[in-house]
Amino acid sequence: MASFSLHGIPVSRGIAIGRAHLLKPAARDVKHYLVAEEKVEAEAQRLSNAIATVNQELQAVRRDLPADAPSELAAFIDVHALILADPIIAEHPLKIIRSRHYNAEWALLTQIDELSAQFDEIEDAYLRERKNDIRQVGERILKILTGSASTLPVIFQPDEAMPQMIVVAHDISPADMLQFRDRAFVGFVTDLGGQNSHTAIVARSLDIPAAVGMSNASALIQEDDWVIIDGDAGIVIVDPAPLVLEQYRENQSKLLRERKKLGKLKKTPAITRDGTVIHLLANIELPEDCSGALDAGAVGVGLFRSEFLFMGRTGQGHKLPSEDEQFESYRKAVLAMKGRPVTIRTLDVGADKPLDKDEETALNPALGLRAIRYCLAEPQMFLTQLRAILRASAYGPIHMLIPMLAHAFEIDQTLAMIEQAKQQLREAKKKFDADIKIGAMIEIPAAALTLPMFIDRMDFLSIGTNDLIQYTLAIDRVDHEVAHLYNPLHPAVLQLVAMTISAGAKAGIPVAVCGEVAGDTKLTRLLLGLGLREFSMHPAQLLAVKQEILNSDLKVLEPAARKILKTFEPAAISEAVARLSLL
Ligand code: PEP
Ligand code: MG
Repeated sequence: MASFSLHGIPVSRGIAIGRAHLLKPAARDVKHYLVAEEKVEAEAQRLSNAIATVNQELQAVRRDLPADAPSELAAFIDVHALILADPIIAEHPLKIIRSRHYNAEWALLTQIDELSAQFDEIEDAYLRERKNDIRQVGERILKILTGSASTLPVIFQPDEAMPQMIVVAHDISPADMLQFRDRAFVGFVTDLGGQNSHTAIVARSLDIPAAVGMSNASALIQEDDWVIIDGDAGIVIVDPAPLVLEQYRENQSKLLRERKKLGKLKKTPAITRDGTVIHLLANIELPEDCSGALDAGAVGVGLFRSEFLFMGRTGQGHKLPSEDEQFESYRKAVLAMKGRPVTIRTLDVGADKPLDKDEETALNPALGLRAIRYCLAEPQMFLTQLRAILRASAYGPIHMLIPMLAHAFEIDQTLAMIEQAKQQLREAKKKFDADIKIGAMIEIPAAALTLPMFIDRMDFLSIGTNDLIQYTLAIDRVDHEVAHLYNPLHPAVLQLVAMTISAGAKAGIPVAVCGEVAGDTKLTRLLLGLGLREFSMHPAQLLAVKQEILNSDLKVLEPAARKILKTFEPAAISEAVARLSLL
């Protein structure tokens, strides 16, 4: 068969090469027929029995979870057990059997299709994905009903001589993924799923390459086909040409060697060769990301983008998360980090992160009512968040970070509101850390040019290079047409970053970088040379950055960086930065 490739969503990194093993969904070949009146109760009972069997299965999987199973897995299995027990599955299909005389499989599928249609209406991507959990639960019941429960090939232990297998399926439930773990399965390809699908989350925590959202991969790929998953690109190559296969095998070994080496650095402190301690922190979007941060050896969370708790809730009647709901999320994060600091950024919505997709967008959203501007315009919403963050600070070290500040009055108003929130909590007799550290994002050039104004008022600074570059170079960060102009090494950007780091150092207040450049290994040495001691990034980048740090010597990087700051020719800057890696 000719080679072909499929494109989907990259959700878990790495390269996997193996033979396809197809999981056929039971839902595909389900019989539909009407049941005679006198057999209706027996049919309903058949469905109830199947549901009870699935429940036992789930409880067994849950009970026998291996100690090293990813923590999310238990929670996902619980979600499936809850769905199974919910009247939408446990009762409604029985009603369909009784009222319409459908056979059990048909009644169940009818109900699941109905629920799926309702979920499709939901705007929130995370919640919309939960539709697949319902489908997966339905699949399990169908497999019991149709007697096709075992879809696994004969169990075998991983064997060097045997080709490894790649599971190709319409969808895979987290519980099924666990079963595959002990076998020679090295990757997952699914038709369904997105960044937030459980398959994706579990694949990431199992560290198995996966590509999801592959549309009709399970129809196009045949059992035993050779398959390559390029997890970084979200590409699946089926029946690759020998040369392609060889190339991927080479890349795979290289990646594995690098990863193995990096994996050993998890517990190594990030200290430069001259003995300077560097703090490597994680950027997270939801409290659940904390386990990944800890796994990567982060010493704290440098940026918790709290807006992900607020976004896309139109399906819930435009409701903002309540103070208690937010408090629970912040508390969860700080408890998960076990005494390590968690920097929670107050709501940064607007521009590319609209709170509500239906909201009328401003003419220049990036220059509009976003982040702190939005919060100051919505004081009740802001106070709610401030109280929630403050309350969580009673449970562990929390720092509060304010985005997009540019004016002294914005800082003063924000600080006054934090005081007001504290007062409200005192009156309500709620605990919080009275000395909570408050910091400012430096992400507007005006802020970088007026640092004393910030240093006088704030406990720490964090440079948001993503926005700082956007605003310094006047390029919309979401506009593809100007993406080529987005350059962290533009001398103007370097000047602003360097000024901020050195002003903080002089004043003795911590300065971090939490934009994408913090995780770019090509820039690690430059940032070290400029005096940066705190880097906050996606956990996946942390070990590679640590490796750069371990090989760096500030005594040579500092003078080299000073020289770069005196250079204004872009080509010379790029060359000099590339040369830092040889020092
Ligand atoms: C930044 O601007 O660099 C930043 C870290 O924040 P965000 O990407 O969320 O705007
Ligand atoms: Mg920003």
